[in-house]
Amino acid sequence: MTTAHSAEIQLARRLSANPVPADERRRLLAEPGFGRVFTDHMVMVEWQSDRGWHDGRLLPYGPIALDPATAVLQYAQQVFEGLKAYRQVNGAIVAFRPEANAARFNRSAARMAMPAFPEAAFVHAIDALVGQDHEWVPEAAGHSLYLRPYMIATEKGLAGGQPSSSYLFVLIASPAGPYVSGGQSRSVSVWLEPELTRASPGGTGEAKTAGNYAAALAGQLRAHEHGCDQVAWLDAGEHRLVEEMGIMNLFFVYGTGVEARLVTPRLSGTLLPGVTRDTLLTIARDLGMRADEAPISVDEWQAGCESGQISEVFACGTAAVVTAVGTVRSATGSWKVGDGTPGPVTTQLRDHLTAIHYGNLPDPHGWIHKIADSVAVPYWGCIR
Ligand SMILES: *Cc1c(COP(=O)(O)O)cnc(C)c1O
Repeated sequence: MTTAHSAEIQLARRLSANPVPADERRRLLAEPGFGRVFTDHMVMVEWQSDRGWHDGRLLPYGPIALDPATAVLQYAQQVFEGLKAYRQVNGAIVAFRPEANAARFNRSAARMAMPAFPEAAFVHAIDALVGQDHEWVPEAAGHSLYLRPYMIATEKGLAGGQPSSSYLFVLIASPAGPYVSGGQSRSVSVWLEPELTRASPGGTGEAKTAGNYAAALAGQLRAHEHGCDQVAWLDAGEHRLVEEMGIMNLFFVYGTGVEARLVTPRLSGTLLPGVTRDTLLTIARDLGMRADEAPISVDEWQAGCESGQISEVFACGTAAVVTAVGTVRSATGSWKVGDGTPGPVTTQLRDHLTAIHYGNLPDPHGWIHKIADSVAVPYWGCIR
């Protein structure tokens, strides 16, 4: 199900009559937390089987009215993305690799039998919203504007068993402080979940879809019951191979310095292919480290930490960027990674990536997308 037409989606613009006052916005931006505060506007675009994408608009942020029998509320046909916009040191507002998120959005949509959203329109929607709500892009170090594009099935009816004939694309934005409380100096403890699984071969683990998150909550609760911060997911077949930590990808560091070698679990079809994961593989190689995608087992993790071969383990994702893993607990034992605190390779990679985000380092791979000035976006004139 794709729509070849409507590569450019017209966005009408209706501005909020009562945006958050400037002093209140400054107060909210001082300590935004994560995903609690939203900007003044949002973008919506409709899809119908007979019309493709249409009726795109930027409008005031607010509730969406849905019939109680709407497909997404019954059968969870939904996909989403998460990416960030940053205010760089030279004042430019940029988004990080939005094209990569647009491409993944459509891979997720295909798996969930949903129509593709044109990648150019995905990036234009981001330009439009961030351009309009640019005053919501925080200035403080480590802060950013988190962007949440998503698509939901909007057909009314309980029949199920077939894809919806209509969809809604939505983009909202939320100023974000550093994700992990206590900052980046802290490392987390992880629970190796022996029974529950996040994803299985042929399933939806590769897709960024809401149902994966709902299915993962019980595992996260089990991690807490075992005194751990986060759950680590193992393969569904044997519970032997390491897949992900919570909603982040994992990296294992063998050795140190320029001799360091990174290993991240290969994309087996049950892992979410993180943009941060892909970015860090590239940065590590740029820094002269070896970085491999390979299977890694729980036994190798434990033995590697006990022998000292594995010096660091960290998790990565857009929201928290890079988080060190300090302690591991399983049904049969527990062990420390290194001395339990964030190690030098973890810190170096995190600092390098955030320096690119904020424009303190050059961007040799073209990852930085400068937000177009909203008045310069050509197809915006039509106000309704
Ligand atoms: C989004 C997500 C990640 C991280 O992906 P990024 O593109 O790096 O933010 C990792 N695992 C899961 C399950 C996710 O949903």
